[in-house]
Amino acid sequence: MNKKGHVLNAALLSIGLGYVLEPSGDVPTFVAIAELSVPIVLGALFPDVDTAFGKHRKTLHNFLVLGIFVAFPILFENLYFVWVGILTHYVLDLFGSRRGLAFFYPYKKEYSLPFGVTTSSKWADLVTVLITLAEVALFALVHYFVVPLDGGLDAVTALFGF
Ligand SMILES: [Zn+2]
Repeated sequence: MNKKGHVLNAALLSIGLGYVLEPSGDVPTFVAIAELSVPIVLGALFPDVDTAFGKHRKTLHNFLVLGIFVAFPILFENLYFVWVGILTHYVLDLFGSRRGLAFFYPYKKEYSLPFGVTTSSKWADLVTVLITLAEVALFALVHYFVVPLDGGLDAVTALFGF
């Protein structure tokens, strides 16, 4: 997916997750959206830095990079929610292109789905919106039925059992 798609996905995802975490639709919702939007958009842009440094769809499109951004809030109490942007970038690259990504890099195999649209497709924006809706639904399921995701460090530690 291209930058436009990733930014659209991250911006819509921030709005959706803001409503999941603060469903009132009032000031707390908009504060949550503001708090989520910058880290998620930054996270969603980060993996494609490997177009300039390293190998595209490999160097910054793998589980190690995701792990760093999941670990950062736990270790340093910094960079909350950037991992959401990284993860959604991978998801969008899986669906929103035919090429796929090397999630287990340095193991070089690139994983892709047998379906998906190209970035130049007229359906690209619609697919991006549908993927975002599915992500919001999944996040809501996890938040309400598995582990609350609004406690920052608490949520991360609860999820991983530290
Ligand atoms: Zn990418």
